[in-house]
Amino acid sequence: MKALVFRHSLAREAAATIGGRLTRRAYVSRLAPTRLEEVPELPLPAADWVRVQTTISGLCGSDVKQILLNGARDNPLTALVSFPHILGHEAVGRRADTGARVLLNPWLSCGPRGVEPPCAACAAGRYPWCREFRAGTLPVAIHLGNCAAAGGAHAERFAAHSSQLFAIPDDVSDEAAVLADPVSVSLRSILLAPPPGDGPVLVYGSGTLAFAAIALLRHLYPGTQVWAATRSGARSALAVRVGAHAVLPSGPDALVSDVARRTGGVPLRPWSGRDWLQDGPVVVYDTIGSVQTVETSLRLVATGGTVVISGVEPPKRFEWTPLYFKEVRVIGSNGFGVEDVGGVAKHAMEHYFDFVAAGLDLTPVITHRFPLQRWREAVLTLKNARRTGAVKVLLQPPGVS
Ligand SMILES: [Zn+2]
Ligand SMILES: [Zn+2]
Repeated sequence: MKALVFRHSLAREAAATIGGRLTRRAYVSRLAPTRLEEVPELPLPAADWVRVQTTISGLCGSDVKQILLNGARDNPLTALVSFPHILGHEAVGRRADTGARVLLNPWLSCGPRGVEPPCAACAAGRYPWCREFRAGTLPVAIHLGNCAAAGGAHAERFAAHSSQLFAIPDDVSDEAAVLADPVSVSLRSILLAPPPGDGPVLVYGSGTLAFAAIALLRHLYPGTQVWAATRSGARSALAVRVGAHAVLPSGPDALVSDVARRTGGVPLRPWSGRDWLQDGPVVVYDTIGSVQTVETSLRLVATGGTVVISGVEPPKRFEWTPLYFKEVRVIGSNGFGVEDVGGVAKHAMEHYFDFVAAGLDLTPVITHRFPLQRWREAVLTLKNARRTGAVKVLLQPPGVS
């Protein structure tokens, strides 16, 4: 079958990185670590695993960062992946045994690994907190898409433990279903610090996580003012379409002064560098997690407020004085599991099906769709989102229409 394979090789990574200084195309060339290959199907890791025919897979920002080698060798998560692996963790497909349409929960926690009894985190449904990512029937990996013995979904077929597959209700389209993974990530980030009810909250970003957060905030907390710091143009229109009350500039200086204007706060001016505020939104959901967005979020969040970081970007030095001065709570947010929404505890993806049935529609974030064979174009389209306007890019294996 055709599959998008990442081979960890220092030679290939070096060649791509050197070439990549000249052109991004070097990362998707024949010498780069990622290639579309004809590969044999891997044996099922255990009897309770199921083969799935991929219908569509979502290209994640993290896939693009990995393909473009935008990470450092000291990233702690390199301890929790195995190579080579087939990329892709956002997927909808059909079970090979029953033909049923299914949505993938990619986490390779205790259940899929056959670890019995499960660790305390998994027993509580907190799969991303699993302590057994190196144990059981699989090599080290946190989810499908970074595991050597269980391929990801950017392929004609993949396999998953039966507990990882959710039957998709008839009234939920494949396109709506494939967004369940990023929407669940944003749901978790909101549940970690729900809007306190008074004052606005700010969603920072112009990607799928940001639009999902805006739509979820409107859906779950109708009384809350939702501001979006989103790039101008089509994406600012999309922010309004999915529910933002106001769209603010995304550049740091313009954003801080815009927040000051809205809150009536006084921008404070240091001897050098950027202004900051003592009053601003009470919660900032930073879906980018770059040095620039984290620093800006700390500068504009209200004193005593909260910044939730769900984005993934390489670290760097930044000016973090407002963190202690304003006693800001900074919360990291990763993945999803069994989540409590309005007193009902179930898997985030099952909550998402309920939200869709109740009218939540995020399919306008799907901007591009490519056949798997054109994965290079797909990667560069998402990488160059500023120019292409890409938000969610989908891949479709050959033979699927
Ligand atoms: Zn993802
Ligand atoms: Zn576990």
